[in-house]
Amino acid sequence: MNTKYFKQKLLEKERELLSDIARLEAEARAANERDVGDFADRATTDQVVSDTLDEASSLTRTLEDVRDALLRIEEGTYGKCIVCGRTIEADRLETVPWARYCLEDQKKQDELNPTRVGSTL
Ligand SMILES: [Zn+2]
Repeated sequence: MNTKYFKQKLLEKERELLSDIARLEAEARAANERDVGDFADRATTDQVVSDTLDEASSLTRTLEDVRDALLRIEEGTYGKCIVCGRTIEADRLETVPWARYCLEDQKKQDELNPTRVGSTL
């Protein structure tokens, strides 16, 4: 397991997520400020703001997953499914370096938590 390689990928992803989250939060704030006093557009603005914040919070969840994965690298448990302990498929780690489950357990998790479907893909 080349953890150095994945650590690099995870750190890059962390930086990317932090800047995306900051950008989305700034957009939400800007949309809010732009529309003060304009009641006709208020509902549209609220929708835009809430969509933007939804996106930011989904990125924040991914950020937590990325940081968890970095911790697992430090602990030496990176790349193993946290449920069954099997080594996570290499091509899966390549696309989702912060994956914490093997494909099989990911499917079970997605069935248990439908709201999180896709958040780790
Ligand atoms: Zn598993």
